[in-house]
Amino acid sequence: MLNDPRSHGLWEKTAPAAPRTSALTGDIAADVVIVGGGYTGISAALHLTEKGVKVVLLEATEVGFGGAGRNVGLINGGMWVMPSEIPGVLGPVYGERLLDLLGNAPLLVRELVEKHEIDCEIEKNGTLHCAVGKAGLEEIRERCRQWAERGADVRVLSAEETARRTGTSAYAGSLLDMRAGTLQPLAYVRGLAKAAIAAGATIHTGSAAVSTERAGDRWIIRTKGGSVSADWIVVASEFYSTGPWEAVRNEQVLLPYFNFATVPLPKELLKTILPGREGCWDTREVLSSFRMDRAGRLIFGSVGALRNTGLSVHRAWAKRALKRLFPALAGIEFEAEWYGRIGMTSDALPRFHAFAPKVVGFSGYNGRGIAPGTVFGKTIARHVLGELSEADLPLPVTAVEKASLRTLKGAYYEAGAQIAHFAGARV
Ligand SMILES: Cc1cc2nc3c(=O)[nH]c(=O)nc-3n(C[C@H](O)[C@H](O)[C@H](O)COP(=O)(O)OP(=O)(O)OC[C@H]3O[C@@H](n4cnc5c(N)ncnc54)[C@H](O)[C@@H]3O)c2cc1C
Repeated sequence: MLNDPRSHGLWEKTAPAAPRTSALTGDIAADVVIVGGGYTGISAALHLTEKGVKVVLLEATEVGFGGAGRNVGLINGGMWVMPSEIPGVLGPVYGERLLDLLGNAPLLVRELVEKHEIDCEIEKNGTLHCAVGKAGLEEIRERCRQWAERGADVRVLSAEETARRTGTSAYAGSLLDMRAGTLQPLAYVRGLAKAAIAAGATIHTGSAAVSTERAGDRWIIRTKGGSVSADWIVVASEFYSTGPWEAVRNEQVLLPYFNFATVPLPKELLKTILPGREGCWDTREVLSSFRMDRAGRLIFGSVGALRNTGLSVHRAWAKRALKRLFPALAGIEFEAEWYGRIGMTSDALPRFHAFAPKVVGFSGYNGRGIAPGTVFGKTIARHVLGELSEADLPLPVTAVEKASLRTLKGAYYEAGAQIAHFAGARV
C-alpha cells in the first residue's frame, strides 16, 4: 500500500484485490458518514446499508490500511483482561454485557464470512493460548474456569496434547478456545468492503477527514477534495486516527508488534507443525504468536518494531526462537516481515465515546480487533438505527482522556522488546 514491504507484508501479497474505490470529489450528502475503513467502519457501513441507510465511508488511505491489514489474524473471543476482572472495572451490567458480546464476537465473523462468501482463509479449529511454565499453566487454568462458567467452549489441554497439536514441546499445556480461529486479516476486511459496496454503501479511499463542522442539525465533514453532509458521524479510525479524532490515538499507548512469515513449509513438516491450524500465542509478558496461512507459511510474531536497530535484533531473535521451538525449521527463509501499531488503553479495555450529538465511536481494542471491531461496528449501526439506546450499549460513555506519559511508555515498550529479544529471552 505504501510501497513499503514492512507495512502490510504477507497479507498484501496474498489478499484478493481490494474493491475499486476512488477519492471523494465535490460535495455530497448521506444519512451517516463513517470515518475509517477497518473492521469497525466497514462492519458499521455494511450493517447500516443493509437496513436501507445511506452511508458514505471515508478512508484516509486504503481499506485495511490500519491495524486491519497488518495484524496476526487471530480471531479471539474476549479481551486480554481476565473475564472476572471486567465487571469489577465496568460494573456488573456493562461488564457481563461486554463479556457476552465479545465472547460471541467470533461467531459474527464466521457468519459474515459465510454469508458474503469472503475468501479470507478462515480456520475454525480454535486457538491455543500456550502456557509457559507453572505460572502460565495456572493462568490458563483460571482463564478457562472463568470462561467455562460463562458457557464458553474452552478446555485446558495437557503438555502432550499441546505438543501434538503445535509440533513443539515448549509448553506446559494450553487453553483451547473453540470459539476462536484465524483468518487472512486484509482479505477479510476487503471482503467486508465488497459486501458493503454490494449492499449500497459508498466508500471513498484516499479521502482523509480533515475537519468537521455543524450546519443546522447536520454535520459537514471535509476532505481535501470535497465534503459529506450527514446526520450522524461514526468515528472508526481507532489507533491509526489522524485529523479531527486524533484524541482517540492519544488516549492509547503504542505497543509495536511484528510478524515474520516463512516460505511455505514442506509437506512433511505440515504434518507435525500445527496440523490442525490452530492460532497460537503464549503467556509470556513479551509474548510470541504463531499460526499457519493457507499455503503453509508459518507466521511468527512478537512485540517490537522492525525499524532502526529493532530490525536486525528482532529478525535474529525470530530465527533463534523458531529454531528453539521447531528445530526442523533451522535456517528457514523468511518470505515477508512487517509490523504495526497496537494501541493500549490504561485498563486494557475498549471505550465508547460520544464526541458530540450524533458523533460516536468505539476504540481502544488493545490488540484484539478482528472480532471486537466487527461486532462493535454492528453495535454502533444498531445504535444509529435506534435499536440500542446509549444505555443499552456494551460500554458506558466515557470522556476521551490523554494517556499519561504516553510517548515515554511507547518508547519503553519498543526499547524493552529489543532488550528482551537481544538478551535472547527463551521462547
Ligand atoms: C501488528 C498487529 C497485530 C495484531 N494482531 C491482532 C490479532 O491477531 N487479532 C486481533 O483481533 N487483533 C489484532 N490486532 C488489532 C487489530 O488489528 C485492530 O484492533 C483492528 O484493526 C481495529 O480495527 P478498526 O477498524 O477499529 O481500526 P483500523 O483497522 O486501524 O482502521 C482504522 C482506519 O481509519 C483510517 N483513518 C484514520 N484517520 C482517518 C481520517 N482522518 N479520515 C479517514 N480515515 C482515517 C486509517 O487509515 C485506518 O484504515 C493487531 C494489531 C496490530 C497492529
